[in-house]
Amino acid sequence: MSTLTEEISKRRTFAIISHPDAGKTTLTEKLLLFGGAIHIAGAVKSNKIKKTATSDWMEIEKQRGISVATSVMGFNYGDYKINILDTPGHQDFAEDTYRTLTAVDSVIIVVDVAKGVETQTRKLMEVCRMRNTPVIVFVNKLDREGRDPFDILDELESELKINVRPLSWPINIGQKFKGVYNIYEQNLNLFTPNKQVVTERIELDDVNSPELEEYIGEQDAEKLRADLELIEGVYPEFSVDDYLAAKTAPVFFGSALNMFGVKELLDCFVKIAPSPRPVQAVERVVRPEEENFTGFVFKIHANMDPNHRSCIAFVKVCSGKFERNANYKHVRSNKMMRFSSPTAFMAQKKSVVDEAYPGDIVGLPDTGNFKIGDTLTCGEELHFKGLPSFSPEMFKYIENDDPMKSKQLNKGIDQLMDEGVAQLFISQFNGRKIIGTVGQLQFEVIQYRLLHEYGAQCRWVPISLYKACWIESDDPEALEAFKKRKHQFMSVDRDGRDVFMADSSYVLQMAQNDFPKIKFHFTSEF
Ligand code: GDP
Repeated sequence: MSTLTEEISKRRTFAIISHPDAGKTTLTEKLLLFGGAIHIAGAVKSNKIKKTATSDWMEIEKQRGISVATSVMGFNYGDYKINILDTPGHQDFAEDTYRTLTAVDSVIIVVDVAKGVETQTRKLMEVCRMRNTPVIVFVNKLDREGRDPFDILDELESELKINVRPLSWPINIGQKFKGVYNIYEQNLNLFTPNKQVVTERIELDDVNSPELEEYIGEQDAEKLRADLELIEGVYPEFSVDDYLAAKTAPVFFGSALNMFGVKELLDCFVKIAPSPRPVQAVERVVRPEEENFTGFVFKIHANMDPNHRSCIAFVKVCSGKFERNANYKHVRSNKMMRFSSPTAFMAQKKSVVDEAYPGDIVGLPDTGNFKIGDTLTCGEELHFKGLPSFSPEMFKYIENDDPMKSKQLNKGIDQLMDEGVAQLFISQFNGRKIIGTVGQLQFEVIQYRLLHEYGAQCRWVPISLYKACWIESDDPEALEAFKKRKHQFMSVDRDGRDVFMADSSYVLQMAQNDFPKIKFHFTSEF
C-alpha cells in the first residue's frame, strides 16, 4: 500500500452533534482521554456561548476564543488518526454547524435518555441526510432516570427518519443501572458510578450461560435475555454497508460523565466509520487517493486580536498530500498561493505542519483572501460544492451610524459575510442592506465585531420578514411578471440571485398559489 492510501485508511474525521446539554462536550472530553490527548477530566471547556447579558461582550469574545482552540481536535487511537471537528453548541450559530458538517465523513449524535430527540438534533440530522452522512447514535445519561430504551429507539427511528440497530444494551437505568451488554462484541461491562477508569470486560459469548446471573442477578439476567431476544427479532442484523450508506444508525447506550459505554462506542466507531470518502465537485468526483492535493475552506475564524485583522481558514484536505510551502491554486481568484505556516491540531496543541493527508484539517493564516467554500488545487479548475445557505430566521436592515466610516462598514460587512457569520440581501425596492441570521446573538456579534475590528458603527432597523425564498422559473416572462408584481419584496443575495422576502407564511402561501410557474426554494442551491 502506498503511504497515501495507508494514511487515508487510518483517518476518521467526524463531528459530534447534539441538542445543547445532551452531553457533547463531556463525550468529546472522554474520547480525548482515551486517545491520550488529555490526561485529566475537565480539560475540555464547553464552547457553548452561554446566555449572557447583551452588554457582556467580553464574555462572548472569551467564549469565541475557546471555540477557536477547540475547532479541531486530532489524536491517535491505536492505528487510527482521529479528527473531531467541534460544532458550536448555541443554536444561534447553527449555520456554522451546518458548514462544519460538509467537512466530516461521519457523525456521532448524542441524545439524552430522558429527553429523547430534541429540536436541534432533528435539524442537524436533516443536514446529515442531505449529504448521506453515516451516523452513530449515543444515548447518554443512563445513570439518570430516563425513558425506556425501546421507546427511545422508536423515537430515533421516527424523528430522525433512519433505521436504527442497537449495538449495546443497558441493564436497567437510573439508580438501578448495572451496565451495558455489548451486542457488537458480545461482552458485558459492569457499571461503577464515578469511576474514571475502564473496567475489565466480561466476555460472554452466550448470554444464556448461568454466569450472567452471577454478575447481574436473576431478575436482570432474565430481562436482558428477553430484551436481546426481542432486539434480534425486531431489528435486522447489523450491516456495515447500510450504516455507510446512511440507511441505518447503530445505537450505543452509556454515560459519558461516568466514562461508561464510551469505549464500546469508540472501538466500534474506528472499525466501522468511513475513512475520507470521494467528494463531489461541480466538475467531477474527486477521490482521496488521487495524487494531486485538493481541499476546500469550510470555516473561517477571525483573529481575536482586533489589531491584527487576520483569520484562520480551515481547509479540509480532500485528496493527495498537502505540503507546506508548495504552490497551490486558489481557484476563485485564479491565483497561486504558498503557505509557509499551515497549522494542524493534535492533542490540543496547534503546531505548524509540513504535510497533511485527506481527512485532515489544516489551518491557513489568511488576511481576507478566503471565503467559505473556496477550493484549493494543484492547478486544476475545480469547485467543491458547499452546503446551500438556508433561509435565515431573523432579518434586520443594517444602517451606517457613522457617515465618516461607510467604507469601513462595507468592508466589514463583506468580510463577515465571507466568513459566513450571516447572510446579506440587497432590497431591489429601496437598495437597503438586509442581514439575515439564525438568531439574535448573531446581530450582536456582528455589531460588536464591526466596531472592534473595522471601526465601523452600525444600527439595526427592524423589518418584519418571515422567510427568504430563492425563486426561479422555466418561463422568463412569468419570472419577470412575478418580480414586477412583488417588487417591494424582491432582493438579491450576494451572488445576485433573486430572492423573494415573504413577510408572512400567509403571503408566501398566496404567492405560491397565485404564481404556479414560479418555484420557491428555501435553500440557495437547487
Ligand atoms: P453539551 O451541551 O451537549 O456539550 O453538554 P455537556 O457535555 O456540557 O453536558 C451537559 C450537562 O450534562 C453537564 O452538566 C454534564 O456534566 C452532564 N452530563 C453529561 N453526561 C452525563 C451523564 O452521562 N450522566 C449525567 N448524570 N450527567 C451528564
